Amino acid sequence: MRARCEKKNMSSNTSIIRLYGDPVLRMKCREVSSEDIHGDISLWVNMMVKTMYENKGIGLAAPQIGLPKRIIVADIGSREGLIVLINPMILSSEGKEIMEEGCLSLPGIHLDVKRAAKIFVKGLDEKGLDIELELSGLLARVVQHEIDHLDGILIIDRVPHKRLKSIKDKLEEIKQLSAKNKNLWPQYASR
Ligand SMILES: [Zn+2]
Repeated sequence: MRARCEKKNMSSNTSIIRLYGDPVLRMKCREVSSEDIHGDISLWVNMMVKTMYENKGIGLAAPQIGLPKRIIVADIGSREGLIVLINPMILSSEGKEIMEEGCLSLPGIHLDVKRAAKIFVKGLDEKGLDIELELSGLLARVVQHEIDHLDGILIIDRVPHKRLKSIKDKLEEIKQLSAKNKNLWPQYASR
């Protein structure tokens, strides 16, 4: 997810972000295995964190760098700092809130999305240790947004259909950009 005020700069170092239209963004991502934890997990997490910061994002999910695995990272610049969650699962949620969201995979699009105000989430850290977090406010929102990515769900799926009509052209533009970026994709999908 990206902050409202940030203007996306489509320079070459941002092209690693997979854009709307890319099939990997619609995949149901696989659970990270214990083999992964003992293998490439740090590599993947480092790549995600770097890409998130480079693109001035406040959250990123693995499929956004072309990796269909259940990993999310978030940093909203709060005292909680960087959050890395592997195989995240929302155990319970409370309340509802509507807030405007953006997405690094949908540059230039901002939509009002209704989500739980507070969540209780569990997952693993990079070392495979259990983490449980109670989150509210923007951080709860970002984590819900990123977990959606792991199930192939985007913010455009969470708004009324008629709202999509007004951004139809913009979505088409992003799809074309996504197709153009294909030759810049690093390959993880074979794993
Ligand atoms: Zn997103």
